[in-house]
Amino acid sequence: MSFVIAAPKQASVPVKGTHLRFPVRRIYCVGRNYHDHVAEMGGIPGREPPFFFQKPADALLLDENFLYPSASNDVHHEVELVVALHSGGKNLAVEDASRHIYGYAVGIDMTRRDLQGEAKKAGKPWEVANAFDHSAPISGITPKADIGLLERASISLHVNKVQRQNSDISEMIWSVTEIISELSKLFELHAGDVIFTGTPSGVGPLQPGERIHAAIERVGELTLQVCKPS
Ligand code: MN
Repeated sequence: MSFVIAAPKQASVPVKGTHLRFPVRRIYCVGRNYHDHVAEMGGIPGREPPFFFQKPADALLLDENFLYPSASNDVHHEVELVVALHSGGKNLAVEDASRHIYGYAVGIDMTRRDLQGEAKKAGKPWEVANAFDHSAPISGITPKADIGLLERASISLHVNKVQRQNSDISEMIWSVTEIISELSKLFELHAGDVIFTGTPSGVGPLQPGERIHAAIERVGELTLQVCKPS
């Protein structure tokens, strides 16, 4: 096939322990999936149906340097378990969902909280708040074949060695398999889709110069340097 311009690069993430990469088709994100985070955002903790939004695949950031984005003075970190799918479908049953998981990664759903607040107030879409360039730093992917199905694992984030977020993925309101099932009712899922599964409490603002360390037990770690844009 011949294109009239050079084809955009396929987004991909390295797979740990290999020289191979996982190609990314779509990034889905889950909002408000830990009770303590719902509470800190001023919501009423409860089991509301999960809601979803997307980031473009090229929002993934594999570089250690996170450039502070434009148009915001209040960029927040949200550490999240990321699930990568090697198959998909529509209307998947919760009991069948785990077989679609290829592996797991540590991700940060970077959020321009000031723009998100304005969008919420005005009933506008979230793209400018959540789907900006490099808004999805991610670690390498650890295959499920190496660690098994992840149902419990500590998840944490430190800024300049001070702990900001600390929880366990078993605290999710909607579990990973429930998320896959619910999402597949709204979108047909495919190999290459990745899902950011929501953040625990402790989200907060970042400043240029700060160093971030995020970790999920058995999955991996992610280190970032927040840089001033040049
Ligand atoms: Mn999030």
